[in-house]
Amino acid sequence: MTRVIVSKFRNHESIIEGASVCPVGCFHKKDSEYVIDPNDCIDCGSCQTVTPENAIVTDDEAEQSDIDYNAKYATEWEPAI
Ligand code: SF4
Repeated sequence: MTRVIVSKFRNHESIIEGASVCPVGCFHKKDSEYVIDPNDCIDCGSCQTVTPENAIVTDDEAEQSDIDYNAKYATEWEPAI
């Protein structure tokens, strides 16, 4: 299981709060856009406690396009923190 940032929140300013509490540093970013690396996420849920409801969801709740987008760009973008 991993968490996924949904498309309409990938550029939302609140996502940095999720990145700041992530214990394994699995948020990545390019400019003001964020994604979560599914290979590093430990499914702790901390990021969801500090971001708007439904901005970050579990992969069984996410659209496949959002799962694919996070996975693809997490390998290409720099760590957010
Ligand atoms: S669920 Fe935990 S490990 Fe996964 S992205 Fe959120 S804070 Fe990081």
